[in-house]
Amino acid sequence: MSLDAYKTLEDKKNNKITKAIDCTAKDVNHVFYCLNPKCNAHLTLCSINSNKTISYFANKDKTHPHIPNCEYANSHNAYLNKFDHTSFEPNSFLKAIIASMTTNNRHTNPKSKNQHNNLKTSPVTISTVRQLYNICLSNPLNSKIGSTEIKYLLCNEATNFLYKSFISGTKLLIGKYNGTNNDTIFIKYPSSWGELDNKFLVCLHIENKQLLKNIKNLIKDYKNNILIFADFHTSSNNGVNYKIVHASISNIKQIIPLK
Ligand SMILES: [Zn+2]
Repeated sequence: MSLDAYKTLEDKKNNKITKAIDCTAKDVNHVFYCLNPKCNAHLTLCSINSNKTISYFANKDKTHPHIPNCEYANSHNAYLNKFDHTSFEPNSFLKAIIASMTTNNRHTNPKSKNQHNNLKTSPVTISTVRQLYNICLSNPLNSKIGSTEIKYLLCNEATNFLYKSFISGTKLLIGKYNGTNNDTIFIKYPSSWGELDNKFLVCLHIENKQLLKNIKNLIKDYKNNILIFADFHTSSNNGVNYKIVHASISNIKQIIPLK
């Protein structure tokens, strides 16, 4: 399920997104389309006019399901109002994730205990890469985490249209494993690597041999999507029909194989 969808196939072609909260009761029987450009799922507007939950789009038409591994197929249920994200800043968060390597065992979110005791009533801070990713998928692409719009934090199939010539800065990138050479692991973005996409070959430079070994164990021959959280820079040298992007990896927590 998601909070955004396309209202028509024409809108899908033009990346004209419709928000569930902007829909009305007359849209209930309308067929909407999945945000993933590669997915042909038909979506239905749900919970319109509900006092209990906000409106969202879900796949009810089993003849037009999400494609396998579609990121928008599952409910991640990580709405922004559950989190205290006012001071969230991507670079500081990346630094904290990298620094958590040396404090691996004692690194726990100090608020997680409170969260338990208080029955999740008080907002929690964002503490893991997966949590950040779930927030990105559960909220409209133009909503903000701290002062950063989700669409500028997320390089997936749905936001690929934004990345026509380069990828720059701290982002969550979803791609597929494409081999290893010495200390470099290659990732293709977007996952589909289709003819019409803005294609990038991402070179992940791994900080040391032990980390390289651990990451290889984690993702070597992995066929599903892989989530990478890093600071990306686009190279001035490019491939024939794709661009080359570099990022350094210093902590295994920057890399998550997705189901
Ligand atoms: Zn889908």
